[in-house]
Amino acid sequence: MTTDSPTKGAEEQHILQRLATLREADLPVRGGRTMAYVYDSGLDGLQELASAAQAAFDGVNGLDMTVFPSVVTLENEVVGRAAALLGGGPETTGTFTSGGTESCLLAVLTAREYARRTRGVGAPELVLPVTAHPAFHKAAAYFGLRVVTVPVEPESFRVRAADVATAITDDTALVVVSAPSYAHGVVDPIAEVAAETARRGVLCHVDACIGGWYLGHLRLVAEGGHLPAFDLSVPGVTSLSVDLHKYGYTPKGASVLLMRDAELRRHGWFAHAGWPGYPVVGSTLQGTKSAAPLAAAWAVTERLGTGGYVELSRRVHRAVSELIEGIGRIEGIRVLGRPDASLIAVAADGPLTDPFVVADEMRARGWYLQPQLAFGVSPANLHLTVTAAVAGSETVTDLLAELEVAVARAREAGPTAVDPALAELAAALDPDALGADEVAAALAIAGIGEDGALPGRMAPVLAVMQVMPPRLVERLLPEVIGRLYACPPADGPTGAGGSMSGKAPVRQGR
Ligand SMILES: *Cc1c(COP(=O)(O)O)cnc(C)c1O
Repeated sequence: MTTDSPTKGAEEQHILQRLATLREADLPVRGGRTMAYVYDSGLDGLQELASAAQAAFDGVNGLDMTVFPSVVTLENEVVGRAAALLGGGPETTGTFTSGGTESCLLAVLTAREYARRTRGVGAPELVLPVTAHPAFHKAAAYFGLRVVTVPVEPESFRVRAADVATAITDDTALVVVSAPSYAHGVVDPIAEVAAETARRGVLCHVDACIGGWYLGHLRLVAEGGHLPAFDLSVPGVTSLSVDLHKYGYTPKGASVLLMRDAELRRHGWFAHAGWPGYPVVGSTLQGTKSAAPLAAAWAVTERLGTGGYVELSRRVHRAVSELIEGIGRIEGIRVLGRPDASLIAVAADGPLTDPFVVADEMRARGWYLQPQLAFGVSPANLHLTVTAAVAGSETVTDLLAELEVAVARAREAGPTAVDPALAELAAALDPDALGADEVAAALAIAGIGEDGALPGRMAPVLAVMQVMPPRLVERLLPEVIGRLYACPPADGPTGAGGSMSGKAPVRQGR
């Protein structure tokens, strides 16, 4: 702490300069070359409209709908659009949430309460295909459910309805299926699973977080004619999550959880009147919540309309088809499964190509393909989220050309070798019993230093992670990332001093 008088605030120009400088280290959020985490419609003016809508609702607090009734109207209209698109009926209801994770958390929480109150389930279980999104594991961890995982088929990466049926017990609170799964982009056999859950009197959630908006529009035209029914119209499906901040191309912080009816939904609501302050009632995990993402989601969906989204979906579909075909022609790689949607998982074809080396090569060329570690029947691969911005024919051609070069270079370099002794050592470690020294040693083996700095090329780190049991990775990751999130020194880069120069903070060694 300094003993001087408090420093003056900084000049606006310096503040904005610093933000701009910090952003230079990030990957681009537009243009389609960052093939995970970001969704670009490629349309002129849409981003500007979204920003204006956000600005118009800046400061509005969705916590109290009696003070800000606008949020009720906007939420009802946005949820209504989702319900109309995704098989909702007159009874369908829903909630606007901050994102897919919150939608999934609320689906699980609602199901847990429903099972407890209507069937007296005291030790609730959550049945998940191994391909289900981590948000459901988070929900189970937060809300105290036991996860029962179900394997998927080796070539299709889909769960089998018969395997789900075996996993259901009297304690099952919820069964989850994906439309599609994030890792392989395939749709689970939803009608078959939901028929079984309906027969057993169990709730069934469709995770259409990433695919719902895209598939829902694609199936309105011939290109989507092959798609199986995956939404609330399927008998037995009781809830569905769909993100707007993915293929709705709206700013981040926007998702919808649809529910069969208000009677089911009410089990996930929370109300509290037992304190001296204002009575609280709400359907989400947040308290104070910005209405800006809701306003932006409303504005963007209003602007594009069904026709706009159908056109964007067709573009994505075309790009996906071209990419699958093009990847098939590149020696040394192959597409996993048969993607049903807009996500492609690219694995090695033969032992010579290391996908993670390909990812490093691509990153050096300005493309981000997301590494996915081998797990169960799924080999190591690279994930591509294809958005409308990729659909420009030049982008697809560029991507395929760069990928061909990257794969050739990766094959020259050969796969990253990991000392088998290391794998043995990793397997022998008890993740729950690791002390600080052992953690430091394990990280050093993975090439991660005391300061938490990540190496420029990730393939060697990923290769080591891959030989570690998932539980060990789960123990180490918070350590690695926790080191990144450390307070800057007290005389560090806040305030108005020369530290506003725009340089990233340089952390002193500890
Ligand atoms: C993205 C995603 C989620 C979680 O959504 P966030 O918006 O990242 O919180 C859940 N399920 C699937 C299939 C997803 O792709």
